[in-house]
Amino acid sequence: MTEILKVKTTKHTSIVNITPQVRDAVRRSGVKEGLCIVYVPHTTACVFINEGADPDVVKDIVYTLESLIPWNDPNYEHGEGNSAAHIRSAVIGNSRIVPIIDGNLTLGTWEAIFLAEFDGPRERNVILKILKEA
Ligand code: ZN
Repeated sequence: MTEILKVKTTKHTSIVNITPQVRDAVRRSGVKEGLCIVYVPHTTACVFINEGADPDVVKDIVYTLESLIPWNDPNYEHGEGNSAAHIRSAVIGNSRIVPIIDGNLTLGTWEAIFLAEFDGPRERNVILKILKEA
């Protein structure tokens, strides 16, 4: 089954914990054993899994991405002026796969699924494909 989550970002850089919505979608699907693919079809957004318990971890991830990939660089060629957002998203990637076991997403104790947007605010779609094991 497919579900599309609508996620509104509120800042230029926004990291949104979408774990509750993904867990709900898996529950609604009724799939007990399978895979949940989380995919973001946007070029300045991405999806990653990391610590959701301490918000400072996400802050440090953003800080490091901004340090490594600065917003302004005279060598960027993309005319829209948001090359850094594209690069930050490309480095992280636009999908993740989470196993479903016994009806639950098998995230680690401290793990959460995040949508990141690097050129917001925008409304974004997160496509969930929930696949039942054959
Ligand atoms: Zn662009």
